[in-house]
Amino acid sequence: MRVVERINDVRSTVKEWKSQGLKVGFVPTMGYLHEGHESLIKKASEENNKVVVSIFVNPIQFGPKEDLASYPRDLKRDSEICERAGANLIFHPENEEMYFNDFSTFVDMNGLTNGLCGKSRPIHFRGVCTVVSKLFNIVAPDRAYFGEKDAQQLAVVKRMVRDLNIDVEIVGCPIVREEDGLAKSSRNTYLSEEERAAATILNKSLMLGKEEIQNGQRNSASIIKIIEDSIKSEKLARIDYVEIVDSSSLEKVEEINKSVLVAIAVFIGKTRLIDNFTYEL
Ligand code: AMP
Repeated sequence: MRVVERINDVRSTVKEWKSQGLKVGFVPTMGYLHEGHESLIKKASEENNKVVVSIFVNPIQFGPKEDLASYPRDLKRDSEICERAGANLIFHPENEEMYFNDFSTFVDMNGLTNGLCGKSRPIHFRGVCTVVSKLFNIVAPDRAYFGEKDAQQLAVVKRMVRDLNIDVEIVGCPIVREEDGLAKSSRNTYLSEEERAAATILNKSLMLGKEEIQNGQRNSASIIKIIEDSIKSEKLARIDYVEIVDSSSLEKVEEINKSVLVAIAVFIGKTRLIDNFTYEL
């Protein structure tokens, strides 16, 4: 497995692979990898001949008050995880390689990006769409793998690829969790011991909501209230949002009569965590 920092090195390697008729899978990440990322890389290596992983903390998807500077980084450990999971190439560019000083072209989206995380992170999805399109142009993969943990991001990337006719298949992968149900996240490392224990409230509360739907409740407001009350029982937790939306349009659903995404964002102390489940009807 090679680690490269230059766009040209990625291009020439992938070109060589493609000239041999090999299929290329791609896993974009911000690094500090865990078993969630590893599951994406493993799936990509099962379904393709070669796998590229990008590790890039993309500055333009962070708001001014967010955690860009403190975001955890450990390339050595990440390289070991990538190698073990079956990656062939890591693309680890510096900011200057990705963004010229006078960089001025962005990929933006309406609708899907306005609600959920887009509400409290107004520039986030513009940054995501821009960097993901750049990475698709650089890597030119056959398939790209994204986690369902970032359900809105997955929907946004699928829509972007459709709208802009980008020739890549987007593959969604299930959420990987800790034993106590907390969704794995690089940001979990920010949590103190007490906060880590409190963070289990996200999944616990979602499961209460799921049980309610399984028991026949179809009214979103009632389900949201159950989830919110449960989260509020944890004193370290502060709700950003609890929403029930259509799985593909991400529009709010009042009565559940189709597949829905139940998604939450919760601050545990200063750390903002997200989680979700999809209920298929
Ligand atoms: P990130 O490094 O946080 O930008 O995540 C890179 C990719 O890994 C995204 O497609 C995420 O959705 C995915 N991912 C992150 N955490 C998990 C998880 N716990 N389970 C599955 N996929 C995940």
